[in-house]
Amino acid sequence: MSTVAEIFQTMEYGPAPESDKEAVAWLGKHERVFGHYIGGAWTEPGQLFDVVNPSTSRAIARVTEGTKRDVDAAVSAAAGALPAWKGLTPHARARHLYALARGVQKHSRLLAVLEAMDNGKSIRETRDIDIPLVARHFHHHAGWAQLLDSEFVGYEAIGVVGQIIPWNFPLLMLSWKIAPALAAGNTIILKPAEFTPLSALCFAEIADAAGIPPGVINIVTGHGETGAAIVEHPDVDKIAFTGSTEVGRIIRRATAGSGKKLSLELGGKSPFIVYEDADLDSVVEGVVDAIWFNQGQVCCAGSRLLVQEGVAERLLAKLRARMERLRVGSPLDKAVDMGAIVAPVQLERIRGLVRQGVDEGATMWQPSWACPTEGYFYPPTLFTDVQPSSTIAQVEIFGPVLVTMTFRTPEESVALANNTPYGLAASVWTENINLALDIAPKIKAGVVWVNSTNLFDAASGFGGYRESGFGREGGREGMWEYLRRAVAGGRRATDDGRRTTGDHVMRGNAARRSSSRPSPAASRQPPVAHPPIDRTPKLFIGGKQTRPDQGYTRRIYGPGGELVGESPEGNRKDIRNAVEAAHAAAKSWSRSTGHNRGQILYYIAENLSARGEEFAGRIAAMTGCGSRQAAREVDASISRLFTYGAWADKYDGAVHSVPIRGVAIAMNEPIGVIGVVCANEYPLLGMISLVGPALATGNTTIVIPSEPHPLAATDFYSVLETSDVPSGVVNIVTGAKDGLAKVLAEHDDVEAVWYFGEREGVKMVELASASNMKRTWATWHERDWLDPEQGEGREFLRAATQVKNVWVPYGE
Ligand code: NDP
Repeated sequence: MSTVAEIFQTMEYGPAPESDKEAVAWLGKHERVFGHYIGGAWTEPGQLFDVVNPSTSRAIARVTEGTKRDVDAAVSAAAGALPAWKGLTPHARARHLYALARGVQKHSRLLAVLEAMDNGKSIRETRDIDIPLVARHFHHHAGWAQLLDSEFVGYEAIGVVGQIIPWNFPLLMLSWKIAPALAAGNTIILKPAEFTPLSALCFAEIADAAGIPPGVINIVTGHGETGAAIVEHPDVDKIAFTGSTEVGRIIRRATAGSGKKLSLELGGKSPFIVYEDADLDSVVEGVVDAIWFNQGQVCCAGSRLLVQEGVAERLLAKLRARMERLRVGSPLDKAVDMGAIVAPVQLERIRGLVRQGVDEGATMWQPSWACPTEGYFYPPTLFTDVQPSSTIAQVEIFGPVLVTMTFRTPEESVALANNTPYGLAASVWTENINLALDIAPKIKAGVVWVNSTNLFDAASGFGGYRESGFGREGGREGMWEYLRRAVAGGRRATDDGRRTTGDHVMRGNAARRSSSRPSPAASRQPPVAHPPIDRTPKLFIGGKQTRPDQGYTRRIYGPGGELVGESPEGNRKDIRNAVEAAHAAAKSWSRSTGHNRGQILYYIAENLSARGEEFAGRIAAMTGCGSRQAAREVDASISRLFTYGAWADKYDGAVHSVPIRGVAIAMNEPIGVIGVVCANEYPLLGMISLVGPALATGNTTIVIPSEPHPLAATDFYSVLETSDVPSGVVNIVTGAKDGLAKVLAEHDDVEAVWYFGEREGVKMVELASASNMKRTWATWHERDWLDPEQGEGREFLRAATQVKNVWVPYGE
């Protein structure tokens, strides 16, 4: 027996176990065997698999492997429940979400214990972080449900939503998915990860007791195949996925061309950057929270420690001392810092990557104490002497392993930080706020934490850049992912199943017969004088008119088969040159002020207006739409340019009210280089409607104009030349639309592709985009470009930007 004096001397902890009694009783109530939760009831258990407690390696329950039939049943339950749920008043849905928040709070300890038993994470984290954030998420989204009609005017629920979540934050990820989906009026089928299904099943019971109508939330357990069945189900309208980039890529490909809306929250290799004036003691605690929180199994874990050279040794010494004192052990022990790794396969992955790090020449350090031998534990691990290109510096380890590199200057720190295909999060540590706020926008990441790390809140969107996925979860940003545009009278212009008719991708006779204005009234318009045919349109790349690489030209015919001009036939090489030019221009254009970009957009409008008649004549000659209609198109194009001139300095971000002493600044950042593949109809307006928002928000573009009517675009570059548009900001490559779009979609240096065409083309673009997980906005649905409600506004601006949330705590 130790005396109190001795305990004060050694400061040793005794065990402080949390009782598992309630959780065991809950499991017992279900005889530790679970079916799915579908249509408000439990299904009979089917083929079962074990759920294992990672800290004991013993099975604690068995759950059912979801089959295609189970998924069918869940989807049809969700579809059946949809009209009534969507038809509720926003206030009624708000009450339901509020009830869910209350339900989570009422059962918070049961959920916290169950989560710790199922996942292996410490009760300290589940009790103080996971579960409170879950409740907060439902509370926050009760608010969005209440405000839906006033804050999302013209938008409505998407329908049946399939949600697939990982094992690292089982209930928290569930809440990130379910709360916004319900608030927007969708119904749900959710699959928890095979390793951690229990809190989702417990939540189903809580939702039931809270009065959520049957079929609104359906939980189907199972492995990857069950997830795939949800992804492929034809009656699922949207997929929301969190997990590995590898599976994200599979899902991107599987949903290509299906019309399913998609949001992906994928992996990361987030930098944790320490400048020499940082408060190193705070940094040490920050590192603990960055990489040893949840055993490092965090998509946004600060897994790459980048330290300014002068303080590296001092920081590493402090870090090693702190690591000596970290405690790894039973997740239910309240005095433990780190619990167990979720499963043997993950433990093996961590071990393998650590071995590889050593083999590749890095120096590995672990504390002197040993981990428990029962269960799947792994000690906190530090690597030094790491090469930026080595495997452990590039690959997501998803375990408690920190790799360290040093840098000399802030520029070098940014280069190192961005030396990854990912872009989920970053931490910046310095006492110099000017430096922090200079660095934050330069890092390619969806979240930047200043002098802090791993801060999350329902009010602040979370999500990645680059191969970390797309879409945001949380806040207003996240709500958009579960809404789609509605059109007055209940008819949706974007998803009523009708396709664009008339002039799609036709050559020769077909092109000659084609007309983008099939209206009989239009064809009665008097013939229009054609512009001379001896002009030689070229491609427009890097601010220069260039001949196409392959030296072919396409003849462009009017509706009566008469020749109206010729356009160059661009190819793969021309696209590559255009991408290079767009990249060269991107840096300065993205940093130009909104005022400056606005001025240029107005100037383009001014110069277009001066040549309005000429453009109208060209449009009428190509499409046969009639001079009045052509003039309307030109006028609408000028007005649209004004719209985006106006938006350029007004598309503000937000300051989120997060529950810290500080602010989270949501900044709308340009996506980068966007491939803009225009609709065939409205050859001028269709193009300007896309180029306008892209430019206003600081992107550079490669434009593939209307295939049958490209001459409005080749005329347009001379307007650009006289309007102070910097070289490379707009590049125009005419030719075979889908062939060129494919090159753009496959190109690793293109960050987004917008495609307005046929369904096959949409599928091709979405499939090809998976290579670098570029953002796509691809649609085959008809759009009336003349109608400002459909042709301009926030929908376009949202597509042109990604939100970066910069968390800035304040106070001493
Ligand atoms: P996965 O991406 O495989 O799993 C995430 C979810 O997707 C699970 O529910 C999984 O089911 C499901 N799933 C798997 N395959 C498919 C498919 N083809 N179609 C639809 N759903 C599918 O992650 P893992 O659990 O395999 O972890 C592997 C690595 O991924 C980790 O080491 C880590 O690097 C990374 N990861 C990243 C996460 C993040 O938050 N960014 C979260 C989890 C992992 P099932 O559980 O049965 O596999």
